[in-house]
Amino acid sequence: MQLKDQVALITGGGSGLGRAIAERFVEEGARVAILDRSQERIDEVVGALGDNVIGVAGDVREMADHKRAVAECVRAFGKLDTLVGNAGVWDYNQTLAGMADDAVSPAFDEMFSINVRGYLLAAKAALPELYKSRGNAIFTVSNAGFYPGGGGVLYTATKHAVVGMIKQLAHEWGPYIRVNGVAPGGIGGSNLAGLSALSQDGHRFSDIPFDELMPRLVPLEKAFYTQDYAGGYVFFANRRDNGPATGVVLNFDGGIGMRGF
Ligand code: NAD
Repeated sequence: MQLKDQVALITGGGSGLGRAIAERFVEEGARVAILDRSQERIDEVVGALGDNVIGVAGDVREMADHKRAVAECVRAFGKLDTLVGNAGVWDYNQTLAGMADDAVSPAFDEMFSINVRGYLLAAKAALPELYKSRGNAIFTVSNAGFYPGGGGVLYTATKHAVVGMIKQLAHEWGPYIRVNGVAPGGIGGSNLAGLSALSQDGHRFSDIPFDELMPRLVPLEKAFYTQDYAGGYVFFANRRDNGPATGVVLNFDGGIGMRGF
């Protein structure tokens, strides 16, 4: 019970990695609020995890939705110890060369508004409660926050931006609030959506031959799944073990950058 009596808010907690983090946090004794744009997914998670979880339907691009999620979390559980900024979208490796001229700006706006603005708004909305609890924030990065090839140029740019955001907020929010990141590699069991602005609504992450692909990309020669990554978040949320950590991004990716040739 590493998170006994702790309270977390997880964006994108309705599916994939966010759902696995919610499940693991509850297993470790926490109570969890999730903010997700899919009411159907929220209902599934709340149905599976019961009274320890509440769900708020909303869009991470909207400040009002984040404020509502923080307020509902505090109303249900009395406080907020850990914000997990996690909701994101992908660009399915779309190259800049292959993008139509008039698609670049809308695709940029959609990608950055969810993957970067969504995290900033979550941070801003959670700040007063995190300050009260002397809590912490954890943001999902990606191997694409460090290396090329984990997405197209738009996705990679957003994840590099998130690394900068983590460092600057760690600088700004010390000594009261710690701010860290987890950078997973490919995640089996994800439903990561593409960009509407690039007509990727029909793209399915599950169509990627994940089990066959991943072992070839990482030195650990394994495919990793949502639940394999959740422990990284427990580490940063655990007040006993994470005291000295702020401005850190954990490369938690099967060693993808260590592959070489
Ligand atoms: P997922 O699609 O399974 O889960 C993301 C959740 O976020 C979904 O439930 C979705 O409804 C929600 N969401 C998306 N846009 C939203 C919005 N505008 N407002 C509210 N909710 C929204 O995907 P996942 O793979 O679990 O992704 C979680 C995080 O992990 C993302 O930040 C992603 O970039 C990162 N990541 C994914 C991979 C991978 O291989 N899938 C690898 C590295 C990092």
